[in-house]
Amino acid sequence: MKAAVLYGAEDLRYEDVETPACPENGILVKTIACGICGSDLRTYGGGSAKAQYPSISGHEIAGEIIESKNDNFHVGTKLSIAPVIACGKCWYCKNGIQNQCDNMRMIGTAEGIPGGFAEYVSFTDDMLENGCFTVIPEGVDSIDTVIAETASSVLNAQMNTGIVMEDLVVVIGAGTIGCLHGEIAKIRGTKEVMIVEMNPEKAELAKKQGFENVYTMSSSDPELERIIMQKTNNRGADVVICACPVGQAQADAIKLTRKRGKVIFFGGISAKSATIIDTNAIHYKEITVYGASAYSPEVNKKALSLVLSGQLNAKKFITARYELKDLKQGYEDMRAGKMIKGVVVFES
Ligand SMILES: [Zn+2]
Ligand SMILES: [Zn+2]
Repeated sequence: MKAAVLYGAEDLRYEDVETPACPENGILVKTIACGICGSDLRTYGGGSAKAQYPSISGHEIAGEIIESKNDNFHVGTKLSIAPVIACGKCWYCKNGIQNQCDNMRMIGTAEGIPGGFAEYVSFTDDMLENGCFTVIPEGVDSIDTVIAETASSVLNAQMNTGIVMEDLVVVIGAGTIGCLHGEIAKIRGTKEVMIVEMNPEKAELAKKQGFENVYTMSSSDPELERIIMQKTNNRGADVVICACPVGQAQADAIKLTRKRGKVIFFGGISAKSATIIDTNAIHYKEITVYGASAYSPEVNKKALSLVLSGQLNAKKFITARYELKDLKQGYEDMRAGKMIKGVVVFES
């Protein structure tokens, strides 16, 4: 089969590799589409400490079962597959917090389990049992479902934070994650969503997604603070979501939040981007800071149901399509901020 194999930083090769066999009690899936994620780009660029080479990335998968040795999964069924595989046994799993599983494994994140940037992917029965495998119903465009993976992380964050209708939500960053945060905040019925983005090209893309309040400026710009204060009777934002990997933006998020407000840090930052956070503001303004990482299989199902019901319009977010052989171009375009979500689409 053809696969995009990563041999090292920036060393991606489109080549023939052996087609995986269907494991005992497992399934073999023919890939229909696989989303390109910011984390894939980070791995491609050499920014993932855990990466193993050679490896096949790709963890936002839609595929069709072409061979099955598992009674619960049938040939011809189309599946939406997300990478999180919890162990089902640790304290976190037993308490319903599978996204913090002590023994978490990930499909297609270059840590060893091959992913969806290949024509075929195989899955073992323990993956099927503790992972995120959901049937795509007839009549749904399978390609749309790849957005559910990123949306799951976003939904996990917003569910944990308890964003409510009265909230003015400020999202810093208009990448895939930032736009999805904006969209899901809208679905949750919040009063207003403001998107802040420095890169004019990305800001323009966000406007095309239908966001009315996109501000092309830095989160440190005093003008932004002035606008937020004006909109909120000088209180500050109810919720600020930091959806960009920049330490300064995290510091700004604290500053822009009202007393008793909420801040979400979404997305890791590099050591050299780390900055000093005003913990006195957290202390005196009684701000709550939320972390957010991955999602449980249940939240993945919820996110997928938003896509299947059409509440989350996947077509609006999938703004670029590539053949597998052009994945490198996909990474370059993503790096240049030319897309909201890019997807590798396979020949049927
Ligand atoms: Zn992803
Ligand atoms: Zn576990």
